Parts: sequence; C-alpha cells; structure tokens
Amino acid sequence: MLRYHLSAPWLLAHRATRIFAPKAHGFRILLFHDVPAENLTAFEFFLAYVKNAHGLITPDQAAAWLAGAPPEGFDGRTPCLLSFDDGFHSNGEAVSGCLDRLGAKALFFVNSGLMDLSGENQRAAIAANIFDGRIKAKALAPHLRLMSWDDAARLKSSGHIIGAHGLTHRRLTKLGGADLEREIAVAGERIEACLGGPVDWYAYAFGDIGGISAEALKLISAKYRYCRSGVRGLNDANTGPFAVRADMIDLAAPESYRKLVLEGALDRRYADARARLDSLEY
Ligand SMILES: [Zn+2]
Repeated sequence: MLRYHLSAPWLLAHRATRIFAPKAHGFRILLFHDVPAENLTAFEFFLAYVKNAHGLITPDQAAAWLAGAPPEGFDGRTPCLLSFDDGFHSNGEAVSGCLDRLGAKALFFVNSGLMDLSGENQRAAIAANIFDGRIKAKALAPHLRLMSWDDAARLKSSGHIIGAHGLTHRRLTKLGGADLEREIAVAGERIEACLGGPVDWYAYAFGDIGGISAEALKLISAKYRYCRSGVRGLNDANTGPFAVRADMIDLAAPESYRKLVLEGALDRRYADARARLDSLEY
C-alpha cells in the first residue's frame, strides 16, 4: 500500500508540523482484532512502546475521563486504552498474557451468538459475518476461531471488561425491528447470562460511520452506557458516551504508520465521520 510505503517520511513531516501546534488533551482507544502467533512479538513490542511513549489507561479511567475526570499523570501525552474486537481465541490466551506482563486492562468486544457455535459452523459464521463474506470459510487461517465462554470468564476475572459487539456481527444499518433489537439487546443479555452483568460497553460491528444509525443508537443507549465506534480520533470529556472514537491498528503495517495513527496524523480525514457520529440523535 502506498501510504505504508510513504509512512516514514510522512511521520517526519507530521512531527515537524506539530512542533508549534497546541496540544489537545485526550485519549485514544486502540482497536485490534485477532493477533496471530506470528505477530505476537511485534504486538508486544508495540504495546510496550505505547506504554512508554504515551501511557496506557484502564477502561475505568477512560469512563471517568468521558465523565469529565481525566486521570492524573498524563500531562502533555495522549494515553491509550486497548480494545479488541470480534472475540478471537488469540485474545483469550496469547493477548491476555501480554497484557498481564504490561499490567494493562482492556476492553474485549465479543459476538455472543457466534461464541455459542462450534467447529465448522463457527468458521462459516466467522467468514460470512465477521469477514462479511469477503473470504470463504475454507480460506480462513487455520488457527482462526473464537474464544470460549471460559476464556471470556478468565478475562473478566483478570480485570478486563467484556463488551458486546452484536449477537452475530451484523451491520446494524441493514437491520430493522426485532432483528435490530435482537442484535443489540440480546447480545448483552447473553453475556450477562454467561458471565454476570451488567454489560456497559457496546461496539457496533464494522465500526464505520455507515454502520450506525440514530435508530440503532437509541436501542444501544437504552441497554448500555457507552458505544465505541471505529471512527478515528481523540476522546475527551466532550466526547459523547455513545460517540466514542477508536483507532484501528494494523499489526502488518510498518511501525512508522502505526506511529502516525498514535500521533493523530489520520484524524483530519475522519472529521466528517466524527461530525456525523456526533449529530446522531438517540
Ligand atoms: Zn468486528
């Protein structure tokens, strides 16, 4: 990808333009998916960099910040909260080991209806729903499967937060009526039944601005306390609890590209999406 090839000079240019710019005080939510074994070393190295250069905050600290009480000790820095979408098996094992070593607490967004499937049925649903049919089940990486309810329970008992990512990872803007309600409310009810509740966080599937509507946000706000999107940008006390931003991190991208994300170089091109997200009335 061209933007990956250009990321090193782009990072230098971005840093040069930021020297005299006023520093915005906010936090980012980083969004990861599956972390395959071959990316685990790069993943842990990256998290250590984020912790040292920016700082890590917990889900509780992020919630307090959204309510107007930022944590102390991060002046002049943009700390990050870690989040993981889709509930892949790697999140429940290898990732949680890395987080333990760093002393980090994260948000894990799971698809409770897909976790109830097993074997080939689950692989077919991962291909059709999570990858939106762009890949056939047979072509999925062999290791790809979802965490079990025991994995999720272990994450929760380690102090991580389990949030809902829909019941079956459907695009909410393609659903209506009872289907929409089920995808939103039943997703959390199933987690509560298996792990205990309440479930405070929802992250809608696909995360883009085309994946959310006022109708869906009304249902989300009736059941949950926060909705995390996949729209890039900083969060602070002015960010609505149902318009929370997140920055997807591609572990296959060059390190300089991931630093561009961390340092906000991509924020401007998401300004329209953030404005639309903020304008949804729920
Ligand atoms: Zn997803």
